[in-house]
Amino acid sequence: MKYQRPKGTADILPEEAVAWSYIENVAKKLFANYRFNEIRTPMFENFEVFSRSAGDTSDIVTKEMYDFHDKGDRHITLRPEGTAGVVRAFVENKLYGPEQIKPVKLYYMGPMFRYERPQSGRLREFHQIGVEAFGSESPNLDVEVISMGMHLLKKLGIQNFKLVINSLGDKETRKAYREALIAYLEPHFDELSDDSKERLHRNPLRVLDSKDKNDQKLVANAPSILDYLSDDSKQHFETVKQLLGDLNIPYEVESSMVRGLDYYNHTIFEIMAHDKVLGDGDVTVCAGGRYNGLVEELGGPETPGIGFGLGVERLLLLMQAQNAALPKTNDLDVYVVAIGDETKAETLKIVEKVREYGFSADQDYLNRKPKSQFKTANRLNAKIVMTIGNDELAKQVVNLKVMATGDEQQVKLEDVYKNFPKLFGKFLEK
Ligand code: ATP
Ligand code: MG
Repeated sequence: MKYQRPKGTADILPEEAVAWSYIENVAKKLFANYRFNEIRTPMFENFEVFSRSAGDTSDIVTKEMYDFHDKGDRHITLRPEGTAGVVRAFVENKLYGPEQIKPVKLYYMGPMFRYERPQSGRLREFHQIGVEAFGSESPNLDVEVISMGMHLLKKLGIQNFKLVINSLGDKETRKAYREALIAYLEPHFDELSDDSKERLHRNPLRVLDSKDKNDQKLVANAPSILDYLSDDSKQHFETVKQLLGDLNIPYEVESSMVRGLDYYNHTIFEIMAHDKVLGDGDVTVCAGGRYNGLVEELGGPETPGIGFGLGVERLLLLMQAQNAALPKTNDLDVYVVAIGDETKAETLKIVEKVREYGFSADQDYLNRKPKSQFKTANRLNAKIVMTIGNDELAKQVVNLKVMATGDEQQVKLEDVYKNFPKLFGKFLEK
C-alpha cells in the first residue's frame, strides 16, 4: 500500500516552511502597527455558522463545504473561510461589550477547507491570513483595511498588483438593484446556466458572480449597482474613493464585482495580481469588504464589520515567480567534530552548553569518520568548528577554528563552558 496525501492538499517541506514563517511574521508585525490582535478559533464549526453567514446560494455553501455528521450526529463543517468563525466568537465571547476598546481589531492565520477542483493556486486545504474590524462604520477604517492589505503585499515584494473596488450599498440599495437586475435578466432566463436559473429569484446578485462564460456575457450589459446606491451608500463610497486618493492608492472601480459571499455590503475590494504563474488573467490574492449585519445575523447586537482574507499559497506562488526576497536559513554557529568514541560524552556536553548560551550547535550522530564530519560542518556552513580527540580530552581542551578567518586555537573546555559568549560571541553575530 502506497500512501498519498489527499487530493488538493500539500506538504510544506522545511525549505518552504521558512517562507511561510517569514510571511506570517511580516504580517504579524504589520498588523500590530495597525493595532490588530490575534484571534484563534476552531478549525471546524457548526454547519449553520457558515450556511447562515456565507448565504445558502453561495458556491461555498452549495458546493464547496467539507461537512459531515460527527459521532454525536452534530452537523459539522471544516471552516471554508475565516470571517464566520471570528464573528461567531465575537458574539459568543461578547467582544462587543463596554470593556472592549472599539473598534475591535482582530487577525487570524490558518488552514481553510473547500471542496474545489485543484489547480495552481487552488487547493482543498489552503491557508488564509485575514483581518476583521468590528464596531465602526467610518470610511477611514475601510481605507485602512485596504491599505494594510496593499502594504502587506508591498512589504513581501509583490509587484504588478492592483486594487479593484465596488460598493454593494445598503439594504435599500440592494432592494432597488435586485429588482432592476431581475427585470434585466428575466427575458434571458432560458439562456442562463442552471445555477443562475436557480439563483435568479433567490439571489440575483449571485448571477453576477457566475463563472459560466455565457452568464458572464449576459451580465456584461446588466445595470450597474452604482446607479442604485442610496444617498448614504453613495456618500460612504465617495468618501472611501476620496480617502484612497488622499493616500495615493490607485484603484479601479468594477461595478459588476460582487464577491463570493452573501454577507458583504458597502465597500468590497479585491487586490489582484497579474502573473503568468497564476494563469492568463488577473488573480485575486486578497479580497474583502464590509459586512454590516453579519454580527446580528449570528445573534449579536447591531455591529458593523469589515475585513479581508488573503490566500497564502497564491501569495507564495507570486513571490516565487517574482523572485521576491526571502530570508536565508540561519547558518550553523558551531559544529563539534568528535574523534574517537571516548569523546562522545564531552561532545554532547559542548553542544548542549553552546545551545544553552543561545547559539545553534550540531554534532555527528552517525559515527562518521572525522573527514566526513568536517565535510558536514562545511555543508552546514558552520561558523565555528571545534574538534575534540582523546589527547584534547585528556588535556581538557578543544581545537577551535573560526571559519571566516581561518584562525585556529586551543581553548580550555572550562572557557567553553563558562565564557563562550564573551570569547566567541563576536564571531557569531547575526
Ligand atoms: P475565487 O474566485 O478565486 O474562487 P473566492 O472569492 O472564492 O476566490 P475568497 O473566499 O474571497 O475567494 O478568499 C480570499 C482569498 O483566499 C482568495 O483571494 C484566494 O487568494 C484565497 N483562496 C480562496 N479559495 C482558495 C483555494 N481553494 N485555494 C487557495 N487559495 C484560495
Ligand atoms: Mg472560490
